Amino acid sequence: MIRRERHELWMRRALSVASTSPSDVPVGAIVLGPDGAELSAAGNERELTGDPTAHAEILALRRAAAVRGEWRLEDCTLVVTLEPCTMCAGALVLARIATLVFGAWEPKTGAVGSLFDVVRDPRLNHRPEVYGGVLEPECAQLMRDFFR
Ligand SMILES: [Zn+2]
Repeated sequence: MIRRERHELWMRRALSVASTSPSDVPVGAIVLGPDGAELSAAGNERELTGDPTAHAEILALRRAAAVRGEWRLEDCTLVVTLEPCTMCAGALVLARIATLVFGAWEPKTGAVGSLFDVVRDPRLNHRPEVYGGVLEPECAQLMRDFFR
C-alpha cells in the first residue's frame, strides 16, 4: 500500500473514533506501532471526565504508552482528525512520536503550522515527520456539523 492510502485508512479509523463521545468536540486520535498495529484510540473526553487536558491525542498517547509500558513512542505514528493544539503538539514531541498525520487544519488553535509550529521548532530536541490535510474535507465537515 502506498503511504497516502495507508494514511487515509488510518484517518478513517480516527474519524470513526471521533464520533464516540457525542457531547464532546468530535476529535479522534489513534496511535500505531512501527508495524502499523493500533496501540490505542481515543476521542475527546473533556465533557465526559471534566478534565481540561482530556484531549483525544493526550488520551491516545497515554494509552499507547501504557500498552507498551514505556513513555517513549519514538517509532510510533499518531493519527488525529484535527490539527493538534499547543498542549497536544507539546505532548507528542515529548513522547518522541516519529510521525504525525492529521486531518483538518485548525486556524484558531492549531500548533502544527497554523497558530504555532511546535513540532518543527528547531529549539526543541525532537521533530516528527508531519503529514497534514489527510482526508481534510471529511475531517473539517465533522467539526462543522458539530458546531452548526
Ligand atoms: Zn489538544
